[in-house]
Amino acid sequence: MKPEEFRRIGHEVVDWIADYRARVEDFPVRSQVEPGWVRGQLSALPERGEGFGPLLADLDRVVLPGTTHWQHPGFFAYFPSNASLPSVLGDLLSSGLGVQGMLWATSPAATEVEQHLMDELVAAMDLPRSFLGGGVIQDTASSAALVAVLAALHRSSGGTWRRSGVDGAETVYVSSQTHSSLERAARLAGLGEQAVRSVPVSPSTLAMDVAALAERVRADVAAGRRPVLVCATVGTTGTGAVDPLREIADVCAEHGIWLHVDAAWAGPAALCPEFRDLFDGLERADSFTANAHKWMLTAFDLSLFWTAHPGVLVDALAILPEYLRNTATESGAVVDYRDWQIPLGRRFRALKLWSVLRWYGLEGVRAHLRGHVELAALLESWVGASEDWELVTPRTLSLVTIARRDGDDATRAAMDRVNGSGRVFVTHTVVDGRFAIRVAIGAEATREEHVRALWKALDA
Ligand code: PLP
Repeated sequence: MKPEEFRRIGHEVVDWIADYRARVEDFPVRSQVEPGWVRGQLSALPERGEGFGPLLADLDRVVLPGTTHWQHPGFFAYFPSNASLPSVLGDLLSSGLGVQGMLWATSPAATEVEQHLMDELVAAMDLPRSFLGGGVIQDTASSAALVAVLAALHRSSGGTWRRSGVDGAETVYVSSQTHSSLERAARLAGLGEQAVRSVPVSPSTLAMDVAALAERVRADVAAGRRPVLVCATVGTTGTGAVDPLREIADVCAEHGIWLHVDAAWAGPAALCPEFRDLFDGLERADSFTANAHKWMLTAFDLSLFWTAHPGVLVDALAILPEYLRNTATESGAVVDYRDWQIPLGRRFRALKLWSVLRWYGLEGVRAHLRGHVELAALLESWVGASEDWELVTPRTLSLVTIARRDGDDATRAAMDRVNGSGRVFVTHTVVDGRFAIRVAIGAEATREEHVRALWKALDA
C-alpha cells in the first residue's frame, strides 16, 4: 500500500469507525451469534490481494454481528473498557510510526514520552513521590502482577533469585476477593498454588482481614516459610472492596514483605482529590497498578505500573544479549524498558495515553470519572428506596452490587431478562453464597437515561 492509497483508504476506515461509534447504541449490546457462526461466514484466504473493500464489507456483514459492543452506553458488565476516540487516534499514530521501543536507542521518544507521562501522573494522581522514575506502561494488570511477584522474589532472596530460582519456601498472600491474575502470577513464577495463601475478608465489607493476614504470616514464618508478597486491592473485581492498605503495610513492614497494590479498575479515581481516601497508605506500597484501559478512556491495552524499587525490578529481569548492546545502554544514562516487563519488544503505547490526556485534559478525565460515580450514587438511591431490591455490599465509586430480596432465582431471572433485551448488559458475582448483579457504570457514552432505563428494566 502506497502512502497515497493509505491516505484514501484510511479516510474510509476512519469514516467507518466514526459511523460505527455514532450508531453504536443501535446494536444489541451483546453479540447474538451462536458459537461457530462467525467462522462459518469466512472464506478462504485470497491468493491475490483484493484491496480493502471486501474487508470493510465483511466488517459490516460478519464482524459487527459477532461483536459485543463495549462502547455501548448500555454496557454495565465486568468493568468498563473505554476506548475513547482520541485514544483510537493515538493508537493509529503508534502503529503509523511503527516503532518497537524495547531499548531507549530503538526509539528515544517512545521511552521518554512514557517516562514523562508516568512521572506527570504521579503528581496528577497524588501518588507517592517514591514512584517518581519508577513508572512503566505494561500491557495488562496481569503482567504488572507478574513483574511485581518476580521483583519481590528477587528482593526476598537477597538478589539470588535470578540465578537460583525459587526454593519452595516462598509464600504469597491474597484475599479471597483478589483478582485471579495474582494466583496465576504466582504459578507462572514457579511457586505453585500451594504457595498462595487466601486470606479471609471481613463479611460486611469484603476487605482483607488484616488480623488474619498477620496470623497467617506469623504461622508461615514459624514454619520456616518465606513470605514474599502481599497483594492488596483497591476496588476488587467482584464488589469493589477496598483493602486497608495502611494496616496491611504494617504487617508487610514487620516481615520485609513486598506490598503490591492492585487498583486495576479503581486506580484512575486517584485523579480526583475526593476519592483519594481509598488509597490511604499507598505511600508504603512497593508497587501499584491502575489500568488506563479500564476507566481512563484509553483503548485496550494500557496498564500503568509504578514501583518504588525500579532497580530491583531491573536487576531481576535484565538480560543483555550481544545484539542489543549499544552505547546509550552502556552509558547508564538511559532507561531501557525491555528490562521492566516480560516481553522484549514493546509498542509505543504512551501515544494513546498522551492523546487522551491532551485531548480531555486532567479536568476532562476527572469529569468522566465523577459523572459515573454520580450515576452510581443515583442508582444506589433508587435501590435504597426499593422494596424488592437491596445493595449486597456498600457501593464503591461507580460499581453497585445489588440483589432481589426474594432470592437468587429472582435476581438471576431479572439479569437474564434485561440482558435478553439487548439494550443493556450486566454481569454477576456471588457474595457469601448469594447471587448478585454487578452494575459497573463506566462507558463513555453512558448518561442518566441509560442507567434509568436499566433500573426500570431490572425493577419491572
Ligand atoms: N485486577 C483487578 C482488580 C481486575 O478487576 C482485573 C480485571 O478486571 C485485573 C486485575 C486484570 O486486568 P487485566 O485484564 O489488565 O490483566
